[in-house]
Formats: sequence, structure tokens, C-alpha cells
Amino acid sequence: MAKTFKIVFLGGIGEIGKNMTAIEYSNDIIIIDAGMSFPSYNMPGIDYIIPDISYLKSNRDKIRGVVLTHGHEDHIGSLPYLIKEIPTLPVYGTRLTIALCQHKFKENKIADNGLNVVTEGDVIHLGNFKIEFIKATHSIAGACHLAIETPIGMIFHTGDYKFDYTPIDGKMTDLGRLADLGNRGVTLMLGESTNVEREGHSMSERNVGQSLDYIFSENMNKRLIIATFASNIYRIQQIIDLAVKYDRKVVFSGRSMINIAEMAFKIGELKFQHTDIVELEKIKHCAHEKTVIVCTGGQGEPMSALSRMSTGDFDKVTVGPKDMVVLSSSPIPGNEKMVLTVVNNLYRLGADVVYEALHEVHASGHAYTEELKLMLSLIKPKYFIPVHGEYRHLKKHSFMAQSLGIPKENIFVPESGSTVIIQRNEMKAGPSVQAGNIYVDGYVTGDMDSLVLKDRQHLAEDGFIIIILNLLTLSPGSEEDFFANVDVITRGFHTFDGFAAEMRDVIKNAFYGFDFDKCDDIAVIKTIIKKTLRKYIFNKYKQNPMIMPIVMDSAN
Ligand SMILES: [Zn+2]
Ligand SMILES: [Zn+2]
Repeated sequence: MAKTFKIVFLGGIGEIGKNMTAIEYSNDIIIIDAGMSFPSYNMPGIDYIIPDISYLKSNRDKIRGVVLTHGHEDHIGSLPYLIKEIPTLPVYGTRLTIALCQHKFKENKIADNGLNVVTEGDVIHLGNFKIEFIKATHSIAGACHLAIETPIGMIFHTGDYKFDYTPIDGKMTDLGRLADLGNRGVTLMLGESTNVEREGHSMSERNVGQSLDYIFSENMNKRLIIATFASNIYRIQQIIDLAVKYDRKVVFSGRSMINIAEMAFKIGELKFQHTDIVELEKIKHCAHEKTVIVCTGGQGEPMSALSRMSTGDFDKVTVGPKDMVVLSSSPIPGNEKMVLTVVNNLYRLGADVVYEALHEVHASGHAYTEELKLMLSLIKPKYFIPVHGEYRHLKKHSFMAQSLGIPKENIFVPESGSTVIIQRNEMKAGPSVQAGNIYVDGYVTGDMDSLVLKDRQHLAEDGFIIIILNLLTLSPGSEEDFFANVDVITRGFHTFDGFAAEMRDVIKNAFYGFDFDKCDDIAVIKTIIKKTLRKYIFNKYKQNPMIMPIVMDSAN
């Protein structure tokens, strides 16, 4: 049989989040990334979502290790769950990535002895795979491209990246190395697609520093409150440097912000003097105009520091007319409304607000069209598979690759659970594997089926009505009393005086001529109540509450 390798897409396909890909050759499997995603607004009560790893569990003996491209949640968030299932796996990542994993493992009470730190440029061997970590520029330190050598050809995984020619850490992408790989011949490239709809070239992180410098210089009399991602060490470093330049003290606020800043400082990714920092508890001792608060909440997350400040619900920081608030972030699609609510509330408190639409206070960490083209041109892969994007992103990225000369039959647009089999001169789809969403709700993992979620959506949108029928009170000739005693309880559903009586009438009419004595299946009674009320309420009030009949009889 001809030698082949196989790619298995377990997450990050058709969505931006929970990235996870398995690469298989002979008896070896390596896993690239183990991410999570955050719930959308229509998933009430869900904390986060992790990939279904049934495929990995049933192939656990073949797995040689996990390789992490970088430390963002959509790449490392489900690692604790993976390691709980398959505890012996070694994990490889750069310094900050592994530090973030250690923190996660500690929170989840998992031993971290399988975590291994690599440096950009390092090569590791896992089974038949030889993996080189190549420095990438992205919105977090320690991001890598991966060059994965197999016995039948090279796989290049871009990871998340942009081409930033003036990165904050001074370490540019090694374009020469990428071109070198391209010239040697890359069989397959997996390329991230996040910003394929943005024309041109992404802005350098350094430009954000210039915009922030302007804001510092123009607001000498105000306190500054800057919200950004806790993991964006480069942004935080620039804010610290500006604080020193303009003689302000930095105050970190928000649990993840404080944790990550401390951790990044310890491993040398973030540089400051302890005298530059003031603890949140001591903020009252700092002059207003000599302070810059760096906090979480740039996405409008309801429990974040900024969101609570905006509603006056954060006792340590009271926002008012002497504050300039900067949202140094871009709303992830779906979060726009939450972000704008925070902005409105901040204005309401009298603060001034700057956000991306008004100023260049954020730079994306993902390549725009011209950068994606540059990557394809440097790597010149024989086969190409777009990843890290919703379906339209993947499709557009595939068109781009065609326009750069990669034949259509050499491009594959995957779906979650797709597999692709590649041998020297052929790429073809393999049988799909089980993949999808596992919902995590507090300590409950995986038991959250889509039915529970549907119920929650229904309850959240339409409320509910409980109807209690007590058959024990029913005796010959007592029908009038019986229906008058039906309990009607509503929650989250707009009612008025007389609504319960109206419902009782509808129920009474529905059971006209119904012989309760001859009915030995309570489900029949429940179904009649549900169907009748649903139809009646929808026709008359154009509402669709969940209807829950409870029927009590001698069996109860
Ligand atoms: Zn990502
Ligand atoms: Zn990322």
C-alpha cells in the first residue's frame, strides 16, 4: 500500500474557536492545538465549549504528543480536558504558552510534568514526525508556525499569524526560513483564514503604541482606563512604557489581567519596575491624573472589570468626567452589542471614550489578504487546506489560493470531522470522524445535550406557563369546580389580570366531552393541554412560551 498521511479536523473549522487538528502517519498521531470556544448569546448558561475528542480517545495508543502553536484560549483552552482523558501525553509549546498551560493545570488540579518548553527554532521528534517551531508574529508572545516533516513530505501549519515588520519584541518572522522551506518543497499547507475578508495589510502593533502615545499626551489631566486582552503582552508592555514616559503609575485590574501580567513578568516576557505598578487596593493613594488602569473587558463581557465600572458596580474604581476610557480591542463578531452597551454606560457616567471606530487603538493579530498571499507565495505548497475560520472564510481563502496558481483539485475545504488523506501525488477526502461541540456548564461536562440547550433558549426568549391539573379533585358532576381550580403559573411571560381565567376556559373547552375516567395515559391529557394552549396563545397573542402541564392523579 502506498504511504499516506492523514489530517483529522476536530475543531476550528467552520468557526473561529476550539482549534484542534490531528496529523496521522502510520502508527503515530500528533495533535496540533487543543482550544476552546466561548458560547454565543443563544447558549444560555454555557461557560465554554470544547471539541469532541472521541476519535482521539479511541486512538489513544497512537498519540505521541500535543504541539501548541501559541497560548490563546482557542488553542490551549481544552488542554486540561484532553489531559484528564489521556494523562500521559507530552505537550510542547514556547515559554509563555507553557506558562499559561501551567496556570490552567493548577486551576484544574492536574500535574504539569508533561509540559515541555521549546524555543523558536527548536526541532522535536515525535514518532515519525520531526517538528520545527518557527517564530511567528501575532497578538501574543511565543506564537509559532510549524514545519512538520513526515517520511513522505513536509506539512506547514501557519498557526495564527500576521506579518509585523516592526514587532514590539523586535523579533521579526524569519521570512528567509519560510522561503527556504518553500524552495525545498512543502507538500501541504494548513493556513489560517480569520481575516481573509480584510483587504490589504494589517497594521503593526507599534502603530497602536503611537495612537496610545497621542491619547496619553492629550489627556494629561485625566485618569486613563485602558481595556485590552490580558494575553496581549505587547499591548500591555506599550502601555507600561507610556506610563513611565508620562509619569503615571500602572494599576492592573481584573483577575486574568493580574495573573497573566505577573506570570509574564516572572518569565521575562513583560518588563517593568515594581515601582511602576500600584495595586488596585491602593489606588486611592494615587493622584487621578497620575494613574493608568489596565483592565479586562474590551469585549463587553458582563462580569469583567470594565463592564462593572460602567454600571457603577465596581467599588474600587468610580468612573466619572475625569476619566478617559480606551477600548484597545476589536469586538469579536457577536460581541458588538455588549461592547456598545458598555460604551453607552461609560458616556452616561460622564467619561470620555475612545474605541476602535474612532482611533487606531487596536491592531489585529491576524493576516489580511496581502499577508495571506505572501504566505502562500513563500511556502508554495502543492496542496492547500484553509483552516481557522468560518465556512465563508475557508471558501474565500481557497479562491485566493486558486488565484495564486494552486489547482482547484489540490485544495480541500474541510468541515468539522473531515479527514483528508494525502500521498505523494494525490489528496482525497477520507471517511469523516465524530467531531463537534461538548458544552461545559460549571462542573458538568458533555451531558449538556442540544435538547437542554434548546429548552434554555426557549425559556430565555419566551418564558413558560405551568398548568397544574389535580385529577383527585375530579368526581362526577364536579367539572365546573375542577377546571376552576386548575393552577396557571407563568414566568418570563407577559400576562394581565384575567389571563389565568382565560387559560382555564380554554382548557375546559379542550376537554369538553373528554372522559377522564377512561383515560389511563396521563401523557394524552398533557398533550391536549400543550397543543391547545400553544395554538391558542400563538394565534391570539403571537407568543410562544414553553407550556409545562403537570397532571396529578392517584398514581402520584
Ligand atoms: Zn486562534
Ligand atoms: Zn491566536
